[in-house]
Amino acid sequence: MNIRERFKDKQRIIIKIGSSSLTHETGALNLTKLEILVREICDIRNMGKEVILVSSGAIAVGSSAIGISGKPKELEVKQACAAIGQAKLMMIYQKLFAEYGHMAAQILITKNTMTNPVSRRNAYNTFQELLKLGAVPIVNENDTVATYEIQFGDNDTLSALVASLIEADLLILLSDIDGLFTDDPHLNPNAKFIDVVEELDENLLHMGKSTSSSDVGTGGMSAKLSAAKIATTSGADMVIANGEDFHVIHKIMQGQSYGTVFTGRKDHSFSLVDYLRSINHREEK
Ligand code: GLU
Repeated sequence: MNIRERFKDKQRIIIKIGSSSLTHETGALNLTKLEILVREICDIRNMGKEVILVSSGAIAVGSSAIGISGKPKELEVKQACAAIGQAKLMMIYQKLFAEYGHMAAQILITKNTMTNPVSRRNAYNTFQELLKLGAVPIVNENDTVATYEIQFGDNDTLSALVASLIEADLLILLSDIDGLFTDDPHLNPNAKFIDVVEELDENLLHMGKSTSSSDVGTGGMSAKLSAAKIATTSGADMVIANGEDFHVIHKIMQGQSYGTVFTGRKDHSFSLVDYLRSINHREEK
């Protein structure tokens, strides 16, 4: 059976959208694209499936609102931008989801939410309850209070951690690249597209140099590959696809050939807690 055929039966789906897929080059929100994104998600909900959206864009939207061009450099400016942008972003999501009769709910997460067992359990319970109520949780890092999040954090990793926490069965990362190539396609015209990755070995992990060409987002290919490692060992399939046209979401769900698929294979020795400890340890050095 074609591996993509099984996407038709997925029940708990996480969709992660990068800042560059949500905004125009001016930094302001691309409302046409947002409208399509929300309609696609509402349609998956209408099929009776659960959807969680991990949306970046807080800093990009906030900086555009206060008239800064490009990514702000100072930490406190980034945090102020995130505070303004996150609220603006949610206001628009709330409005668009309501137009299709669905409810959007905001969940802001820091690394502490995941490392602290009590917070992690609370976050898990909140996700479960929201999904039971039929709401669409919209997740982002709580950039305004978690300074190291902005410096090190990226929503690729965050979305994989959420997939692991709530045992999602499919994670779709939409970015400004078509998927995984044998080399950086911006630099090497002979780079070949990889359709399916069944085994994410060390070679592949090293191949993912930070290749994001975007100056608004945070995660490059290496962040996406480490997200793939977390998601697949937690048992979820993952797809990296181009978010240029959000109609790709229903095409992926129908099993059409878009993006690179990383097949999930639950590794019972993988522990979310140990993984989080290892990244915290790196930061303390
Ligand atoms: N949390 C950041 C924001 O919403 C973006 C992180 C990322 O691009 O991965 O602006």
